[in-house]
Amino acid sequence: MNAAGIEALPPLRDVIAAHGLQPTKALGQNFLLDLNLTRKIARAAGLLDGITVVEVGPGPGGLTRALLLEGARHVVAIEKDERCLAALGEIAAASGGRLSVVAGDALAVDYRDAVAAERRDAPVRIVANLPYNVATPLLTGWLSAEPWPSWFDRLVLMFQREVAERIVARPGEAHYGRLSVLAGWRCRGRILFDVPAQAFTPPPKVVSSVVELVPKPISEPCRRQALEAVTRAAFGQRRKMLRQSLKPLFANPSEVLESVGIAETARAETVPIAGFAALARAYDGDRAAD
Ligand code: SAM
Repeated sequence: MNAAGIEALPPLRDVIAAHGLQPTKALGQNFLLDLNLTRKIARAAGLLDGITVVEVGPGPGGLTRALLLEGARHVVAIEKDERCLAALGEIAAASGGRLSVVAGDALAVDYRDAVAAERRDAPVRIVANLPYNVATPLLTGWLSAEPWPSWFDRLVLMFQREVAERIVARPGEAHYGRLSVLAGWRCRGRILFDVPAQAFTPPPKVVSSVVELVPKPISEPCRRQALEAVTRAAFGQRRKMLRQSLKPLFANPSEVLESVGIAETARAETVPIAGFAALARAYDGDRAAD
């Protein structure tokens, strides 16, 4: 699997110097230069044998190298910063055809197209040290994929610790919110481990966490857009009782809340995902009746 070719590549610090890849804040560039750490992240993504990995934001390629060394069948790496493309080309040349680089914005890429050439029925996994400035919209986009279960079998992603906590939070916990509901509705999620700020170049201000999300069949069926409408209203005014915060959506919120078994005085932060799904179904029922 061409490990020797990857291992013979120069140290990442030399690559950064040779290609002038000074990190820029605007692109959320906090690089990981320690191959032991990037290999730990790659291993956290499970056995990669036979897997096509999509990596967003490879940068100088520390995690990319690790994914290849840990045996990914193929890596499709999507990078917005054109300065990184030559360095990534060197990894591609050493990879024996196992790395394709897509130059572009991961928020705008058609992922099915990007993996189509390489997939050949291999499962697809998204593994990335995400640019923090677009991490939440990227995740929301993947979690909103239709149909569900989606074109990927797992997400293993680095976030700021606070965002990681929002993703995995449960009802009643301080970080529970819209992102927790969407993530918990579609995936089983957990924080795998933390990564200290000093592990990055340059160090961000906060601790980071690697999160695993495994898509699951939907056990609480409802339309995703209706679920989003309900959680947007409920968490938009999270200190208010639901009979108040849901007024923009329902003519008689108290009646709807009673019909789905939620106290009208409850607040969004205590409602389980099943409750939001029931409200989403009621929202669609109301609209159909209009
Ligand atoms: N994977 C590298 C590592 O671990 O050292 C770099 C991670 S750095 C946190 C985020 C990377 O995402 C940078 O290389 C940055 O240029 C890239 N990036 C930022 N915004 C992007 C976007 N919208 N689409 C694709 N890549 C993006």
